[in-house]
Amino acid sequence: MDEYKTFNDLGLSPWLVRQCDLLGMKSPTEIQKKCIPRILQGEDCIGCAKTGSGKTLAFALPILNKLGEDPYGIFALILTPTRELAYQIGDQFAVMGKTLNLRMSVIVGGMDMMVQGQELSRKPHIVVATPGRLADHLESCDTFSLKRIKYLVLDEADRLLEGRFDHQLKTVFECIPEKRQTLLFSATLSDSLDKVKSIADEKVFVWSEPTD
Ligand code: ADP
Ligand code: MG
Repeated sequence: MDEYKTFNDLGLSPWLVRQCDLLGMKSPTEIQKKCIPRILQGEDCIGCAKTGSGKTLAFALPILNKLGEDPYGIFALILTPTRELAYQIGDQFAVMGKTLNLRMSVIVGGMDMMVQGQELSRKPHIVVATPGRLADHLESCDTFSLKRIKYLVLDEADRLLEGRFDHQLKTVFECIPEKRQTLLFSATLSDSLDKVKSIADEKVFVWSEPTD
């Protein structure tokens, strides 16, 4: 039996359910059904499903839901390997969170450091970043801090953890609190699951889409 047929069944607030409805989304995808209720309950989560299965909203909806409840206390950092992905994630937050006074920054390479620095000093609720540029800011500026983040999301976690970002990720991890909710999403996880797990709580909920 499928206990989660609608966005409402997942435990999301009415304003967010309405937002999904307005955007023509009729029902949650499988990964959204499995992960959103867990995330809303405060659990760490590892979700694995192929590209196009709605992983972004699997973490964006519960984060926005909490932000709706506590607009002054919820801060989230979303890391992703490429600029393009960062902008796509930023767009989904912006569209879904349209009715909130959402302050969001997309922090990627190729943009002016000063302008980004000013944006970060305004304490955005949501920072979507590539590791390299975020590490640059953490190393060069003291006008913003990640000490209060409640959520850390690694989107495309296996790509982030395959090695080439290790140095930058170390810088970022040193700046964020240990007490946080960690959400890890990926299209593939087979080889990297242990590494991914090491970032989350030991009781992390793991869900992987069955392959056919
Ligand atoms: P993934 O990260 O798994 O590759 P995305 O999160 O980028 O996939 O989602 C792919 C597309 O599916 C996006 O355009 C998104 O708006 C859309 N989408 C996400 N969830 C739903 C849903 N429940 N119903 C319909 N479309 C959805
Ligand atoms: Mg994705």
